[in-house]
Amino acid sequence: MDDKDNLTSVLYGVRDLRLEQRPIPEPGINEVLLRIQRVGICGSDVHYLVHGSIGHYIVKEPMVIGHEASGIVVKLGEGVTNLSVGDRVAIEPGVSCRMCQFCKIGKYNLCPGMKFCATPPFDGNLTRYYVHAADFCYKLPEYMTLEEGAMLEPLSVGVHACKRGGVTVGSSVLILGAGPIGLVTLATAKAMGASKIFITDLTEFRLNVAKKMGAFKVIKINKEESDEQAIENVRIELNNELPDVTIDCSGFQQTMKMGIELTKSGGVLTIVGMGASRNVELPLFNALSREVDIRGVFRYANDYQDALSLIASGKVDLSPLVTHHFTIEESLEAFKTAETGIGDPIKVMIHCDKDA
Ligand code: NAD
Ligand code: ZN
Repeated sequence: MDDKDNLTSVLYGVRDLRLEQRPIPEPGINEVLLRIQRVGICGSDVHYLVHGSIGHYIVKEPMVIGHEASGIVVKLGEGVTNLSVGDRVAIEPGVSCRMCQFCKIGKYNLCPGMKFCATPPFDGNLTRYYVHAADFCYKLPEYMTLEEGAMLEPLSVGVHACKRGGVTVGSSVLILGAGPIGLVTLATAKAMGASKIFITDLTEFRLNVAKKMGAFKVIKINKEESDEQAIENVRIELNNELPDVTIDCSGFQQTMKMGIELTKSGGVLTIVGMGASRNVELPLFNALSREVDIRGVFRYANDYQDALSLIASGKVDLSPLVTHHFTIEESLEAFKTAETGIGDPIKVMIHCDKDA
C-alpha cells in the first residue's frame, strides 16, 4: 500500500479537536486493516468534545473520536478467515474480552474488559485507516450502502431496546424522545410488528420525521409544562390506552416518571436515554404496585446482525435520518452542526475516504 495519508480527528481535551496525521496501523492476529468510509456523529462524541467526560469516563490522553463507522477491508491480519480484502463492512465498535462470564453467556455488552471506540482510554475510528477485530466486522451485502453500514450502530441500540422491552406483533409502544435513537427505535418497533407507536419530543421537526417514518401518533411536549402536566397531557393523547412497552430515549426525570406512570400494568419500561445527569426521583410505588418492569439498556449485544437484516430486507429505511454530510477535513464544522442543531440535523455523517 502506497498511501501514507492517515488523517485522523483527535480529541485532546474540552473543545480541542485536532486533525493530525498518524501512522497507518498494522493488523495483528485476527484483526483487519480498514479504509474507513463513513462515520456518524453520536451525541456522546459531542459530549466528550464539549465536556471532556461522560460519567466516570474522562478523556485524559488524546483520543481519536468516532464510533459509528463503516469501512472497506484493505489488509488481513494473521488468522482472519471470515473476511477478504475488498469487503465492505459495518464496524461494531465495542470489542469484548470473549473470556469472562458475561461474554460466555452472550451478554458481552456487560464485559468489564470491553474496549469501546472513543470511550476513554480507547481510540475511535474517525480516521482514514483503522484496525479492528475481524469478528466485530459485518460484511455488507452489495445492495447495502456504506452509510447504512455506519447507521447499524445506532440501529443496534434500537434493536436491543426493543428486544429488552419485549416488543412483538401487536404491541403498543410509547417512545419518549425522537432523536436518532428514538427514531431508530421507532423503525425497529414497527419492523418487529408493533401495531401502534406513539412518540414524544420537544421539537416539531423531529416529530415530523417520526410521522413520516410511520408513527401512529406524535405528541409534542411543551418545555414549560410541569412533569405532572406533561404526563397528564400525554395520557390524554394516548386516549387512556396505556402502551404495553415504553422506551425512554431521552432519559430525564420527567420522561422516566412518565414511563412509569403511563405504561400499562404488567408492562415494561425500558430506559435507553442518559439525559439525567444526577439521581432522579421516581414514583417507584406506582411501578411496583402495577408490576411495571423497569429495564436498562446498555448499547447492544448480538444485535448487529439483526440490525443488518432489518435494513437488508428493506424492513427498515434509515435514509430520512441522515441529514448532513461533511468530509473528515471538515470535522470541526460537522461537530458544530451536531452540537448547535443549526439546520435541524438528525444524523451528521462524515466521509473519510478522499477517493470515494
Ligand atoms: P438526542 O439528544 O439527539 O435526542 C434526544 C431527544 O429527546 C431530543 O430530540 C429532545 O428534543 C428529546 N427530549 C428532551 N427532553 C424531552 C422530554 N422531556 N420529552 C420528550 N422528548 C424529550 O440523543 P440521541 O442520540 O437520540 O440519544 C438519546 C439518548 O440515548 C441520549 O441520552 C443518549 O446518551 C442515550 N444513548 C444511550 C445508549 C445506551 O446504550 N443506553 C446508547 C446510545 C444513546
Ligand atoms: Zn468479557
